[in-house]
Amino acid sequence: MTSTTVSAPSNIGLRSRVRASYLGLAVGDALGASVEFMTPREIAHRYGVHREICGGGWLHLKPGQVTDDTTMALALGEAILEAGSVDAAACARAFDAWMRSKPVDIGHTVRAGIAHYRRTGETAAPEDPMSAGNGACMRCLPVAIATLGAPPGKVRRASRTQAHVTHHNPLSDAGTETVILMLQGLFRGEALNQQLHRHAHPLGARHPEFAFRRRPCRNPSGFIAHTLRAVFESLFDTDTFEACLVEVVNRGGDADTTGAIAGMLAGACYGEAAIPRRWSKALDPLIRQRCTAQAEALLDLIEP
Ligand code: MG
Ligand code: MG
Repeated sequence: MTSTTVSAPSNIGLRSRVRASYLGLAVGDALGASVEFMTPREIAHRYGVHREICGGGWLHLKPGQVTDDTTMALALGEAILEAGSVDAAACARAFDAWMRSKPVDIGHTVRAGIAHYRRTGETAAPEDPMSAGNGACMRCLPVAIATLGAPPGKVRRASRTQAHVTHHNPLSDAGTETVILMLQGLFRGEALNQQLHRHAHPLGARHPEFAFRRRPCRNPSGFIAHTLRAVFESLFDTDTFEACLVEVVNRGGDADTTGAIAGMLAGACYGEAAIPRRWSKALDPLIRQRCTAQAEALLDLIEP
């Protein structure tokens, strides 16, 4: 483990970082899903250290299969590509179609938000103090790409447009926007350390729920602040893609989602070559292909 001196390799191009971010999301989801809802002690008893994409878990997944984290991000990315921007109606329609496709899992707040849209036609759920789950954040990657280069105010509005279909909550907004701004900094080749000081620490100063490293966040719940504390500790206190993901998923809890968010950030930071081949090979080939195709298509949207 190293501390805050880690910096992102600067010689990696934008396309490699964006593709790696998509693959990182899927790899982290597939790796973490095997141990979702297990405690660190249960994981240690069963696996020693969990470091292989092996399926199983409470969802009885095939090796390489992903969950809602990846498939919702892909649905959102398709909506952005179809509309040419982050459009509320397109997002809501895409999430509705995604739920009809009978995904392998679906979070409570996501289900309630899509049900609200079906009932009312409204593309934003009512603001709700109980909607501070991590479901809007786990799928935010396509927004980070589609708004790369836009002013921060526009980035935040786009983030809320997609988030509020299901998660209308200030803590969810703050966490999701922070992850998007960090992804964009890493896409531009900025150092990891800059993301720590510009985004992660200020988030904890604004909302103490997100303050991390006081005590390692083990067994993180689906509450956005627990999730991001585990992600930030794992991202900023390791110095490779693999070490970051192994660290975060072995904390258990909502491990597919911590894996997915850590995977997109670490992918953006370290680039494609840093993703272990055994992990990208283990990934469901159709998902791997959809992730890289969508990464390229979203980049074409912003730099045709
Ligand atoms: Mg999931
Ligand atoms: Mg999860």
